[in-house]
Amino acid sequence: MIDFVLSKKQQELKEGIHNVGKFVIRPMSLEMDRNHEVPEPFLRNFMKLAGGRGGQDIENFGEDGSGEEGKKERDPSKISEANRTSAVGAEELAWADAAMVLCMPGAGLGGPPVKSTGTPEQRKRFLGMFKGMDTGPLKWGAYGLTEPGAGSDVSGIRSSCRKDGKHWVLNGRKCYITNGGRAIWTVIFATIDPALGRAGHRAFVVEKGTPGFEVGKIEEKMGLRANETAELVLEDCRVPEENLLGGEAAYTTKEGGFMTAMKTFDNTRPLVGAMAVGIGRAAYEYARDFVKENYLIGRPIPRYAAIAAKLSQVSRKLDAARMLVWRATYMADMGIPNAKEASMSKAAAGQAATQACIDAIEICGAHGSIATEHALLEKWFRDVKVYDIFEGTGNIQRIVIAKRIMPGLKAF
Ligand SMILES: Cc1cc2nc3c(=O)[nH]c(=O)nc-3n(C[C@H](O)[C@H](O)[C@H](O)COP(=O)(O)OP(=O)(O)OC[C@H]3O[C@@H](n4cnc5c(N)ncnc54)[C@H](O)[C@@H]3O)c2cc1C
Repeated sequence: MIDFVLSKKQQELKEGIHNVGKFVIRPMSLEMDRNHEVPEPFLRNFMKLAGGRGGQDIENFGEDGSGEEGKKERDPSKISEANRTSAVGAEELAWADAAMVLCMPGAGLGGPPVKSTGTPEQRKRFLGMFKGMDTGPLKWGAYGLTEPGAGSDVSGIRSSCRKDGKHWVLNGRKCYITNGGRAIWTVIFATIDPALGRAGHRAFVVEKGTPGFEVGKIEEKMGLRANETAELVLEDCRVPEENLLGGEAAYTTKEGGFMTAMKTFDNTRPLVGAMAVGIGRAAYEYARDFVKENYLIGRPIPRYAAIAAKLSQVSRKLDAARMLVWRATYMADMGIPNAKEASMSKAAAGQAATQACIDAIEICGAHGSIATEHALLEKWFRDVKVYDIFEGTGNIQRIVIAKRIMPGLKAF
């Protein structure tokens, strides 16, 4: 049964991150937004606190990242809390600065497909690269699925792959890839034949520096400006056959490659939901405190009552979204299929958080919309919208949910 009370470890993590967030990250937030980067010394200090492993899931994948060592040591009767703990941490970090969360060194979105589909050797090799970031260089991984012609409908990807001896040759273009320019490797999805749809998909780990693999333009974005979003170009890029994720055996089922892409989202959508809740909560708390400081004296009571009602509604919706996030992460931790619940959490969180930012600006009046050096509200408003876009838009989450509550209905 899901327990809504945080464990001692989770509570300590939440409080620790909150304090760093309040006293260190928030004061740098607007400057990072203006400079389009998170200072490296800060990331390095954070890595030291995290034991130099950058979000690597030690609980489930062991010290070496392969998953084999972890399996041996794990007590099967002990319930994992890794996903829920990550959600608690992600909400708190995003409360401080959402762009900074995406800049955290580690495998990032590239981690889940390597974990779910990679062979033990691939997991050890590619996830093991993220050890030692407390002293050594900072490293990022990335996930390259979206293309100019295939965002929501990823069955339409056109990036191609063909086998040539002991290599695969990749051609195509990927867009809007988080940390794509700085990543030491990116999981690239390509197709052996677009006519095969999902059955043609293959996933490769393409390492930085592989000839024919180049970074294209870095996007100028409305929000999350401190985080890099890049275009990646593949031109006759020869990738060793050992980098085909899961090996040939992973693609004998009809939807092997497509499922690799989708399984990623079952773990990451709740985390994206948690980050959205973090931004929404930041805006809500800002507006609540603004009202407490400015509305109790000399303002008309009916207006104050309407504002109080709005704040209570925002708070309720954010709490409900967090509960959905925790349910989805609990299921992931228990190994229970959670595609519907992951989509529910992301859809609810994206909407609740976006509305929280809109309402906070409205409640604060002109003060809320002014982009001075003190105005975080304006930044959160720019940051939050993408949480209802990336990793599947709100519309796509609603389709995922509808397909599962009405199985067999061919309306989508
Ligand atoms: C900051 C940022 C970071 C990103 N990071 C990554 C990354 O690391 N890796 C990666 O692979 N991608 C990444 N993306 C891409 C992101 O996942 C896509 O933008 C997203 O999936 C939507 O695709 P699209 O932009 O092509 O929009 P479209 O698919 O063109 O959608 C446009 C509109 O049509 C709606 N729509 C589409 N299909 C349907 C339908 N069947 N029914 C109803 N409505 C529909 C959508 O909801 C949306 O409102 C990132 C995007 C951004 C903005």
